[in-house]
Amino acid sequence: MKVVVSRDNPLIKRVRALSQSARDRRKMDQTVLDGAHLLRAALEAGQAPVEVVVSDQGLEREEIRSLVASCPASSVSQVPDALFAHISPVDSPSGVLAVLRMPTEPVTPLDMSRSLVVLDRVQDPGNLGTLLRTAAAAGLTQAVLTQGCAQVWAPKVLRAGMGAHFNLAIHERLDAASLLRDFDGQVLATALGPTAKSLYLLDLSGPVAWLFGAEGSGVSAELLTIASDQVIIPMPGRVESLNVSAAAAICLFEQVRQTRPSDR
Ligand code: SAM
Repeated sequence: MKVVVSRDNPLIKRVRALSQSARDRRKMDQTVLDGAHLLRAALEAGQAPVEVVVSDQGLEREEIRSLVASCPASSVSQVPDALFAHISPVDSPSGVLAVLRMPTEPVTPLDMSRSLVVLDRVQDPGNLGTLLRTAAAAGLTQAVLTQGCAQVWAPKVLRAGMGAHFNLAIHERLDAASLLRDFDGQVLATALGPTAKSLYLLDLSGPVAWLFGAEGSGVSAELLTIASDQVIIPMPGRVESLNVSAAAAICLFEQVRQTRPSDR
């Protein structure tokens, strides 16, 4: 394990740039994750971190020590706590972070006979990560992200995803409208218009392509036109809409309720 103490060290400069700048992440084709849970999820998914950085305090935790021990010593650097805080992408650094190559697009094509989520221009990193986490928790295995979503491998999205990134096939550069024409099931666009049907009146026992929309403008007009139905979660209270990730949790777990009666 190397010991690094200077802010001028090239490793420190590189990790800080990756933590702070979407442009630098794209340029270097790498990203940063912070936290023992995320690092374990990445390692279990077969990712080989390019660098692992651990703080003095982090090394005092058994969980972090054993994770670090499972990485090649040549890829691990120990830094003082203040230097770790300087390069971590999060406000409350955990004591361990890793640099990963930005994973490439899944090699397997989308399975159009299985449920999936389409996330349309979801810009908030916390919402995007939470949506992926919710989809993975509901047992889905594939997600499509339209142009205009936050950078899916950004540190804040990884953090909110809590490892879901490594359990989903995430397709980023597909034309969602044309691919959904071949979907072998219902295409349900969540929306708030007067023609939307109540979620609780729908039969969700077959495959569903769920469309969730941008925080401000909702699902795009183009995607709305190809949906087999628009779906609303009835809201008896006096608010305009739900947060998109809250809406997704309600829809996806209504599908779980309908398809897994043995869980009741
Ligand atoms: N003005 C936007 C609209 O009319 O769609 C509101 C967008 S809302 C904040 C963001 C996303 O959350 C929506 O695109 C939809 O996916 C989901 N959503 C929020 N509240 C919902 C509800 N009550 N029923 C269904 N979906 C909802």
